[in-house]
Amino acid sequence: MKRPSERLRAADPRDALERAADEAGAPPPASPRAARVELTKEFRFEAAHSLPRAPEGHKCRRLHGHSYRVTVTVAGPVDPARGWLMDYGEISGAFQGLLDVLDHRYLNEIEGLENSTAEILARWIWDRLRGKLPQIAAVTVHETCTAGCTYRGP
Ligand SMILES: [Zn+2]
Repeated sequence: MKRPSERLRAADPRDALERAADEAGAPPPASPRAARVELTKEFRFEAAHSLPRAPEGHKCRRLHGHSYRVTVTVAGPVDPARGWLMDYGEISGAFQGLLDVLDHRYLNEIEGLENSTAEILARWIWDRLRGKLPQIAAVTVHETCTAGCTYRGP
């Protein structure tokens, strides 16, 4: 005889959907009722840089600055008890140390950012956040209002 909880699970139509997803090779959800979400948190900093590997004569070889905008995205299931994936403050806490390193600096002087394209900076930030934010899903670096790069991991 089945226990009541098993009978309830078998009666739940979502189980059938999950079984179908399993058979299709999709990863199982973390919890049958947990909605998966993405959270984003934005940070800003000012910094100077030059791109020494840009083509000869390219404007980005000259010393210049940006008002950088960085969007950190985390993804995962909603904690049913709290109703959130995580506290935005956790993302801010993880990023704070990087703000101290990056804000009002000459990026070329920072190890790993000697050629700080948006691509390299996005990965540099990802590498430093991953240990503190296991749910990290993307890092977007905007150098200007219209130009940015998103890194989603290796
Ligand atoms: Zn630039």
